[in-house]
Amino acid sequence: MRLFIAAELPQEQLEVLSETSARLRDAVPGRYVPPSNFHVTLAFLGETDGSRVAELAELLDDACAGFEPIPVTLGALGSFGKARRATLWQAVESDGGLEALADAIRRRLAHGGFSYDEKGFLAHTTLMRSADISRGELPMPQVAWGSVEDVTLFKSDLSGKHTVYTPLHTVRLA
Ligand code: ATP
Ligand code: MG
Repeated sequence: MRLFIAAELPQEQLEVLSETSARLRDAVPGRYVPPSNFHVTLAFLGETDGSRVAELAELLDDACAGFEPIPVTLGALGSFGKARRATLWQAVESDGGLEALADAIRRRLAHGGFSYDEKGFLAHTTLMRSADISRGELPMPQVAWGSVEDVTLFKSDLSGKHTVYTPLHTVRLA
């Protein structure tokens, strides 16, 4: 199964991100991420043996132990890839907290023999894919405050019309 571990954003930030996404709809052609799918990927495992989910859940509990809720703010809009087919995202800023969490999780994964994408971590939530940002103006991103409290192991299913994420295990930071 296709797996990834993500930080879930607080409700007030999800609402602000939804508003930005709605404004993007009028300005930028492309594929919109449904607001229910907004998240910050901490580690992307990709295709993983389903028999190891329980082990992963335990590993995630261990990696998150000792972390308190992480204060986060929404930052600038940014993009990956070519301007006509960009991945468009909004930065999520945390004064190093999310970076430390991603690092702790990735170290545990490596230690447990799980492979994951080792590209450097950049805290962001994706708003659009295949976005043509070569013309028109992007909306001004809105700021919102809150704290990340939940870290979830998700299964991702790409087979249908829309990508479906299913939470398999959630750790509450306390
Ligand atoms: P779709 O691929 O249909 O556009 P998606 O990207 O939301 O949907 P996945 O590809 O399963 O679904 O990705 C799940 C999460 O992991 C997303 O946040 C995605 O950006 C991230 N991700 C996907 N592939 C990688 C990768 N190779 N390295 C790092 N993160 C990745
Ligand atoms: Mg993808």
